[in-house]
Amino acid sequence: MSSALRLIFLGPPGAGKGTQAQKLCEERGLANLSSGDVLRREIRAGSPLGERVGRYVRKGELVPDEVMTAVMLETIAALPPGTGFVLDGFPRTVPQAESLDAALTRVGDPIHAVLDFEVEDATIIERIVHRRVCTQCGSWYNTRSLPPKVAGVCDRCGAPLAQRDDDREEVVRRRLTVYRTQTAPLIAYYERQGLLRAIDAAVPAEQVEQVVRQVVASLDRKG
Ligand code: AMP
Repeated sequence: MSSALRLIFLGPPGAGKGTQAQKLCEERGLANLSSGDVLRREIRAGSPLGERVGRYVRKGELVPDEVMTAVMLETIAALPPGTGFVLDGFPRTVPQAESLDAALTRVGDPIHAVLDFEVEDATIIERIVHRRVCTQCGSWYNTRSLPPKVAGVCDRCGAPLAQRDDDREEVVRRRLTVYRTQTAPLIAYYERQGLLRAIDAAVPAEQVEQVVRQVVASLDRKG
């Protein structure tokens, strides 16, 4: 089953989902499907979709469900058959989760588990202020906990690192409120389906990585 593992990474912005998704996907050969990355690519390219979603992303508001669901279901459908994936940042509302469930059930490829990365707001704000992302390949860094080898330069591709516009403190606070009101209900939603695996993401990234490995190994055993 591991080659076709299908996971959702849930949790507030700054919980470390992106970093963990990147590592797990590299290790297991899974597709790393970050909804935020998909949107940022469209915004950078100035596509019609990018123009439509840019104002929501800049303000830290959610892009409307029907737009987001269409984009992510297309992204999943475009994967080569049998490809496993990690969804990072999608779904973010109950209607998005219901659409995803329906689409995956139709093709007989349901989600195996939802990893819920939990961290308190104060820790998140402190983390995000130090977060940097590669302008080229999207790799994540943190100037304190996960610095690049050369300051301001991506280890993987050598491109410059930058702070995201929506990583400014006032936007982060808005994104956290949006998370607690619109996305947190998904915890109960997936718990009811028996898919939820809670992960303490307040500990250092290497420890979180170990726990993610253990959870994934337990899925392998079950599969
Ligand atoms: P992220 O990189 O996951 O923090 O996403 C950045 C921004 O993209 C969010 O603040 C939203 O504006 C938008 N976004 C990403 N994923 C979704 C989603 N599933 N539903 C609605 N908006 C989203």
